[in-house]
Amino acid sequence: MSVLLLSTYDLGKQPFGLASPAAWLTRAGLEVTMRDLSRDRLDPTEVERASIVAFYLPMHTATRVALPVLDRIRALNPTAQLCAYGLYAPLSEALLREHGVSFVFGPEAEQALVALAAGEPSTLPGLPRLAFMTPERRGLPDLTRYASLRMPDGTDRVVGATDATRGCKHRCRHCPIVPVYEGQFRVVAVDVVLADIDQQVVAGAQHISFGDPDFFNGPTHARKVVEALHARHPSVTYDVTIKVEHLLKHRDLLPLLARTGCAFITSAVEAVDDDVLAKLEKGHTRADFVTAAALCRHAGVPLSPTFVAFTPWTTIEGYRDLVVSVAELGLVEHVAPVQWGLRLLVTHNSRLLELDDIRTRVQPFDRVTLTYPWVHDDPRVDAMQADVMRAVGVSGTRPRAEIFATVSKLAGVDSSPSINRATIPYLDEPWYC
Ligand code: SF4
Repeated sequence: MSVLLLSTYDLGKQPFGLASPAAWLTRAGLEVTMRDLSRDRLDPTEVERASIVAFYLPMHTATRVALPVLDRIRALNPTAQLCAYGLYAPLSEALLREHGVSFVFGPEAEQALVALAAGEPSTLPGLPRLAFMTPERRGLPDLTRYASLRMPDGTDRVVGATDATRGCKHRCRHCPIVPVYEGQFRVVAVDVVLADIDQQVVAGAQHISFGDPDFFNGPTHARKVVEALHARHPSVTYDVTIKVEHLLKHRDLLPLLARTGCAFITSAVEAVDDDVLAKLEKGHTRADFVTAAALCRHAGVPLSPTFVAFTPWTTIEGYRDLVVSVAELGLVEHVAPVQWGLRLLVTHNSRLLELDDIRTRVQPFDRVTLTYPWVHDDPRVDAMQADVMRAVGVSGTRPRAEIFATVSKLAGVDSSPSINRATIPYLDEPWYC
C-alpha cells in the first residue's frame, strides 16, 4: 500500500501537516511519499503508483490551489482513493467530494489516515485525542527552500516550523478554527515538540516558527517548551502567536519569552474599534491592545499585530483611525504589508453567520473563493480596500514604512503620522491565509 501525501501551501513553512501523518503511516509499515507542491512539481509516476492520495488543507489558499490538482490526479490515477484532511477539509467537504474526494478528515487526522490505509475507514470521532509522535521530515524539501527570518541587520535565518498545540480554546466569531475545534485544543507532548525541533536544528534551522493558533492556550506547557528549547539550543530564536487577552493575563511570562529567544509575537488584534471587536467576540478592547503593545515593548519582544482591516462595519474614519493608531503606537514596522488590506472572510459554518447583519448581507457561497462574498454599504470603503490591496500587492521588497506612507495616502490621512523606523525580525512570506 503506497500513500502519497500532498501539501499545496503552508505559509512558506515546511509542512508539519505532512510530516506528522508520515510518521504514523511509516510506523504502521506503509510506504509514504510526501510532496510539497509549493516547492516541487507533481510527479505523475508517484501519483500513478499511489493507492491513496491525501491532501493536507490547513488553510483557505491551500484548498483553492488543491482543487485543480485533485482533477489532475483523478485523470492520472482514477483508481486511487482520494482523501483530504486539515482544518479546511471539513469546511470545504461538499466541494471536495465534487472533485472526487471520498474521505474527509479534520485536522486531527493521523490515526484516521492509518486506519484508511489499513482498509478500515475510521469511525473515530471528528476530534480524537491523539498521542502525537515525532514528525517524519525526511523526504521534504530542504529548510533553506522555505521562508526565512529577515533580521533587522539584513541577514536571514533558516526557519523550521512545528506545533506545540493544535486548535484553540477560544471561540472568536470570525475564526475558521472555531467551527472545527469548537473551543478545544490539543497538546503535543513536550518531548515530541523538542524532538521535532532537534531534528530541524540538525537540518539547519536557526529559528523555529510555532504554528499554534495561540501559544498561551496552555501557558504551563508553553513555558516548558521554550525553557527546554532554549536550554538545548541557546542560539535558536523562535516566534509565536498569542492573543491580546493572553498577553495581558500571562504578562508574567513575557520576560521569559524575551530571555529564551522569542524574536517576535504575532497577535490577531483585528481592529481598534471596540464595536467591531465586540462583534468578532475577540475578548479584548482597543485599550487592551494598547496595554499589550506596551507590555511587549517593556519585555523586549516585538509585537507584530495582524488585522482584519476591512469589515462590513469599517468606516472611512475607522480605517484612518487604524492607520493613525498603529503609527502612534510605534508599530508601523511591525505590520506585514498585506495586513493593511485584508477583508473579513465569511467561511463555511462561520459563527459570523449568527449575526443578522452578516446573514442578510452575504451573497451565495462562492466556490472559487470558498467564502460568502459581501459588499460594503459604502462603496468608498470597498474601493479603498481594493486600492490598498493593489498597493500592498505590488510592494515587493519596499520598506514597510514606505508602504505605510502609501496606505496612509490612500486612506486620506491628513498629516503624515510620525513613524518609528526601528525594524523588527519578520518572516519573508508575504501571504497570510
Ligand atoms: S484566539 Fe485566535 S485562534 Fe483562537 S478562536 Fe480566537 S482568532 Fe481563532
